[in-house]
Amino acid sequence: MSSQFDLTDPENEALLGSCRQAKRIAVLTGAGISAESGLATFRGDGGIWSKFKPEELANMEAFLRNPERVWEWYQYRRDVLDSANPNPGHFALAAWERICPEFSLITQNVDGLHQAAGSTRVIELHGNLKVNRCQSCGAESDTEEIRFEGKVPKCGCGGMLRPGVVWFGEMLPEAAIREAFQSSQTCDLFLVVGTSAVVYPAASLPEIAKESGAAVLEINPEPTPITRWADFSIRGNAGDILPQLVEAISIKL
Ligand SMILES: [Zn+2]
Repeated sequence: MSSQFDLTDPENEALLGSCRQAKRIAVLTGAGISAESGLATFRGDGGIWSKFKPEELANMEAFLRNPERVWEWYQYRRDVLDSANPNPGHFALAAWERICPEFSLITQNVDGLHQAAGSTRVIELHGNLKVNRCQSCGAESDTEEIRFEGKVPKCGCGGMLRPGVVWFGEMLPEAAIREAFQSSQTCDLFLVVGTSAVVYPAASLPEIAKESGAAVLEINPEPTPITRWADFSIRGNAGDILPQLVEAISIKL
């Protein structure tokens, strides 16, 4: 499709039709939409942590070897997150949820910005940066304000707390996976936003949706492996495209 997105272009008639008619929508979001809120992928961002690769810190072995260092990194990331805000792309998805009978937002992001924008049905495939989970009893909490200041925080049971995100080499949360597959199978429109979706299971979700008869719409600044077979593919940032799209369809409702 054209690089300049223009909703009045007759070329986009079918796309708008699919968006208007969809009663069950599933959305998959990734790092791209967070990057538009200024959240880097923590690769080579030039800070004190740039000498580490995320995969060197975000794994169980690293945590058991040096929990203080891993916690310090996550505290840094939480501090960065505290100054980040949802962008127009997040808000547009939250608005779309309000006018759609069934709307599931599957995200690979751990920053909670969808919820901050008002989305209520969020399926977090990789956990949440603000959640703490006990290494021993598995209890999770995002209500306690825990700040790492040199000592690894402990659970009431005495176990070490860790950030409630999925680390390299770990399984994805079962309930989230199940819900994600279910929404992908039953939706009539599947949106892929700001992700190249090359990693399992995210990669298979749009495929499942397509096989189950849904239209697949991709919004990404760059082409991805999905572009070839998506029904609609828009080149652009979520924060530019999604508000236009939601505005265009809600006027007709
Ligand atoms: Zn515990």
